Amino acid sequence: MDTEAIVIRIKTPSGDMDSSVDCPSLLNFNDLLVAIRDVMPEATVTAFEYEDEVGDRITVRSDEELKAMLSYVILQHMNEQRMNGLLPDPLQIFPRAGKTPGNRNIHGLKVNTRPNPANDCTHAVPDSIANNSLKKSSAELKRILTNGQINAQDIHYQEQLGHGNGGTVYKAYHVLGKRVLAVKVIPLDITVELQKQIMSELEILYKCDSPYIITFFSAFFVENRISICTEFMDGGSLDVYKRIPEHVLGRIAVAVVKGLTYLWSLKILHRDVKPSNMLVNTRGQVKLCDFGVSTQLVNSIAKTYVGTNAYMAPERISGEQYGIHADVWSVGISFMECFPCSGLISYLLSKLVCSTSQDPPVLPIGQFSEKFVHFITQCMRRHPKERPAPNNLMDHSFIVQYNDGNAEVVSMWVCRCLEERRAQQAQGPI
Ligand code: ATP
Ligand code: MG
Repeated sequence: MDTEAIVIRIKTPSGDMDSSVDCPSLLNFNDLLVAIRDVMPEATVTAFEYEDEVGDRITVRSDEELKAMLSYVILQHMNEQRMNGLLPDPLQIFPRAGKTPGNRNIHGLKVNTRPNPANDCTHAVPDSIANNSLKKSSAELKRILTNGQINAQDIHYQEQLGHGNGGTVYKAYHVLGKRVLAVKVIPLDITVELQKQIMSELEILYKCDSPYIITFFSAFFVENRISICTEFMDGGSLDVYKRIPEHVLGRIAVAVVKGLTYLWSLKILHRDVKPSNMLVNTRGQVKLCDFGVSTQLVNSIAKTYVGTNAYMAPERISGEQYGIHADVWSVGISFMECFPCSGLISYLLSKLVCSTSQDPPVLPIGQFSEKFVHFITQCMRRHPKERPAPNNLMDHSFIVQYNDGNAEVVSMWVCRCLEERRAQQAQGPI
């Protein structure tokens, strides 16, 4: 079965909960049930349902039926959607309390109802990313329902981490939650109605749960400023790192592609893929931030925005409709900067491509491998449809080569760079 990440949406009476499952083929029925019970502790859930192509509900009560559901949904729908460059819909499941199943197994698969040793809690099961992700999600959901709110008075601001077009980012300490945060403060002169709209548009961030996406904790307005509290990344953003070696860049690219694939599966376009929105930490994690989930927030910031984004796809610069492929362009141009190629050159290049309807010039191989150059060249094809679709991105030989989960490579490199930076600062200006 295809092992492309999918999003499972658990439909509950109190709302939906989305979870990313990195390896669907490793998912087992019991783990999914545990995750459902975590979300619906009052109900006795023994099975769940999904909908087939005509809207009939099919019950899933075993590993075999789970497998049947996954191969049906993934093979028939999600892969087709991905091939066409579309965002695959989340797989919706409807938990149910133990009743006699009605319409089951219409796909003619043999169902083994004997207990499966893999379902036995005493039996060692592989610690799949899928399980972790689901368990973490339900724990996260509980945390949000109980103490997720962060109030302005409980935040102690520390140093300024950076300043962008929209606002200023601070390192801060949340006294109640006892954790370090990154708080982005954006001045916005808007009505209370618009403030409410932004807050409700940001709600989806609570549902984002991926190791490749920055964790969102809370957002609040104080007077005319919105503060957005997220996870702090001690390595900062990629734009301050110079000449990233390819074996490190490869692992970073894998995380970026996985993060984007996750967002796309939730029907979220990033819209602002660039090195300053790719964050790293000393644990070797790479996460995306600042994706445009709130149209109202993006519009309000745009009113004060100066200049053009150098990483924007030509179709966006020329005001055409755009989709996933525009994010793919931005991935290419972001990594092209490692050649090294300054932001200004990237910008001029996208302007050139935009005005001439040509693909950008092929980059010289030498400092970087043929696979890397090919990856960038493909992402930066002038015509959006010629750029790789999500599944092709994951299958590209450059990504495949570095998709080995080796976080230590990134971790060691981040630690070394931070060490060098500290040493330089200690020396002071010459
Ligand atoms: P723009 O406003 O055009 O998007 P930008 O991304 O550089 O540009 P900000 O998003 O305001 O601007 O971020 C400013 C800087 O703050 C970033 O470049 C990054 O170095 C730092 N930063 C942002 N979020 C975090 C975080 N969660 N952890 C650590 N550093 C962060
Ligand atoms: Mg940013």
